[in-house]
Amino acid sequence: MNEQDQLFDKHHIWHPYTSMIDPLPCYPVKSAQGVYIKLADGKKLIDGMSSWWSAIHGYNHPVLNQAAHQQIERMSHIMFGGLTHQPAVDLCQQLIDMTPAGLEKVFVADSGSVAVEVALKMALQFWYNQAVQSGKPSQKTRFLTFSHGYHGDTFAAMSVTDPDNSMHKMYKGFLPQHLFAQSPPCVQIQQGQWPQFNANDLADFTHKLTTHHHEIAAVIIEPIVQGAGGMRIYHPQSLSYIRRLCDHYNVLLILDEIATGFGRTGKLFAFEHAAIEPDILCVGKALTGGYMTLAATLTNRHVAQGVCDGEAGCFMHGPTFMANPLACAVASASLSLIKSNTWQQQVLNIERIFEATLPRLLSYPRVKAVRWLGAIGVIETHQKVQMSSIQELFVQHNVWIRPFGHLIYIMPPYIITEKHLHTLLNAIESALNHDDCFQ
Ligand SMILES: *Cc1c(COP(=O)(O)O)cnc(C)c1O
Repeated sequence: MNEQDQLFDKHHIWHPYTSMIDPLPCYPVKSAQGVYIKLADGKKLIDGMSSWWSAIHGYNHPVLNQAAHQQIERMSHIMFGGLTHQPAVDLCQQLIDMTPAGLEKVFVADSGSVAVEVALKMALQFWYNQAVQSGKPSQKTRFLTFSHGYHGDTFAAMSVTDPDNSMHKMYKGFLPQHLFAQSPPCVQIQQGQWPQFNANDLADFTHKLTTHHHEIAAVIIEPIVQGAGGMRIYHPQSLSYIRRLCDHYNVLLILDEIATGFGRTGKLFAFEHAAIEPDILCVGKALTGGYMTLAATLTNRHVAQGVCDGEAGCFMHGPTFMANPLACAVASASLSLIKSNTWQQQVLNIERIFEATLPRLLSYPRVKAVRWLGAIGVIETHQKVQMSSIQELFVQHNVWIRPFGHLIYIMPPYIITEKHLHTLLNAIESALNHDDCFQ
């Protein structure tokens, strides 16, 4: 990429959460291979981000490449209304096999945010139909969630995302007002042991659910790890507690595993830390091994029945690129890689290295807290990072780490070696020594 192209990018192309008027620098990428991101200037960076939780097997994977090549020779896309295809069937069969027995109805969506929209709409339509059948208007039209959550950037997803992080006040009057409960405190697993659980930590949540249950369609939360809203890890027993409460008060439970799904937390799905089952499950991000956008919303027979029983007779959603065969074929291949089960040992090894190295960083006065679970390592600092200088320093150290706010975190591809993981951690340590990397 020449300088002119870079200037074009700077002047004409939006990047995520970046000013279009005064943008931060972007590094042109030429290719990526395994754990490496190769920049246009020839530099090779070790990837600490898995392209936002997605590239779990590393880049340019021969098995995923082959799946994409094979499928594109047959057809890249075909409409899903009235037609079906092998890649969709193979993918959904695998998804159903790897999730709890109750979840057996799959809606294949085109992105995580859409999968969340679908989940919310399913919950609303489920209760709407029940109300209509009993001749009353549906009262269950609100959602209960935690502060510090993140569920996507489209409107309904944003309406259940942390109000401060998503700047709800800018959309006031347009966004529905849902219920936000104080999120449970961060806890740390050590040598496989969680600390004592205290139900008092969920007092605010319990209060909101018990007083508003008649108007709550569903609880929507990220299980065990709250991702983009704060990289917070909470107690698995919170999840079992919430499940019991939802059952008791007749509220659906939607789990958003878009970030945590497919092994990232050390379990195939984060809710397995709590041995519970959601009514509706959203997956995305790593679903295609980071190859292209695809997500899915799974639910059980009971919810599907309730959704389709009413006046519409169907679920009112159907994106143009629903169940895109190319994406389904790659996702299917990615799930087969997961089934080979090497991820389990890889994630465990990454977790052990975090456990052995992260606590040492607490000796830096700049560091407020460290947390880890599975292949997620988090350093929370007192000051906010200075994005352009910290990014430059990381690139100088031949690593790709993209912090935000007070958080420097890594979630590398599972295939990363111990040596490369230490390179990432050393680069973070070096940043902690640089005043100009912080505001
Ligand atoms: C990323 C993310 C989403 C949104 O997914 P997109 O594919 O970016 O739309 C939703 N929920 C969680 C937990 C996420 O991490």
